[in-house]
Formats: sequence, C-alpha cells, structure tokens
Amino acid sequence: MTSRVLLLNATFEPLAVVTARRAVVLMLSGKAELVQAALEGGAFRSENLAVAVPSVMRLSRYVRVPYRASVPMTRAGVLRRDKRSCVYCGKRADTIDHVVPRSRGGRHSWENCVAACRPCNSRKADRLLSELGWVLRTAPAAPRRGRGSVWLLTVEPHPTWEPWLAAAA
Ligand SMILES: [Zn+2]
Repeated sequence: MTSRVLLLNATFEPLAVVTARRAVVLMLSGKAELVQAALEGGAFRSENLAVAVPSVMRLSRYVRVPYRASVPMTRAGVLRRDKRSCVYCGKRADTIDHVVPRSRGGRHSWENCVAACRPCNSRKADRLLSELGWVLRTAPAAPRRGRGSVWLLTVEPHPTWEPWLAAAA
C-alpha cells in the first residue's frame, strides 16, 4: 500500500499527506472521515469490514498546526516550486541542479537548488553560472509557510487533491 492520502483539517484546509494505511487507521478510530475515495479504488478488508481506500479525508476535530521555522527541502518540493520547468531553458525538468555546485561549496538548500532538465544539468556540470554566461530569472527561495503548504510541498500532489490545494492557495 504505497498510495498517499491528502489529510484536511476539520475546516477543510490541507494539513498533511499520509500513507493510505495511516489514513485508514485514522478513519477506523473515528479521528477522520472520508471526503473522496481513491479513483483507482480498492478497499481495505478485515473479517467483517471493508473500508474504501481514501484519496482525500478530513479530521473530525480541528487541530492547530504547529509552527515550523523552516520547510524541509526535498527534490519533489524544488520541482514543484519551479513548476517542473528548467530554470535555465524552460523545458520540462526532472532533475535538481545546485546553482553553486556542491563541489565548490554550494549548499543543499532551497536557495541553491533549482529544477533543471537533464541536458542543462549535464552541460552546467560543476561550473558556476558566471562561467557559462547563464542567468537565473528569479532567485530561488524557500517556500513561504502558507497554511498547509509546509507538508504539501514535499510530495507530488495527486490530481484529485487539486481542488483542495487550489482553495487553500
Ligand atoms: Zn534546461
């Protein structure tokens, strides 16, 4: 069971992404309720119970989101921030480039990582932008801590989540 479930707060704000197994446990314990079942379907079955695998669910009680000083950086998060397009040429990106290469002291951070296509990434290799005459149109930045966005940026969103994410943006 590898599918992911979008967990909404009781107020319908996106809160977290959890595994389907965790989602079912939350539902069975009465802590959350189904909002939308997974399209690819399936159900968890036990001896006398069948539970539809959720895609979106909602907590029964409102929880306060704890303050987090920074959003953890992930590959999926950087691709999402940069809208999956290469910051150098605009083509579809599926790699992460360190603007200042790690071999030259660049950090593995939101501010130094950008989405890049494979050709640009390999052309750039361990050189600096100034050495190539390349420029960044916008400076990479850590995502702001909007409501719910803390967790959501770290995974690839499922299409069925979009209405909920759009509502929170
Ligand atoms: Zn490119």
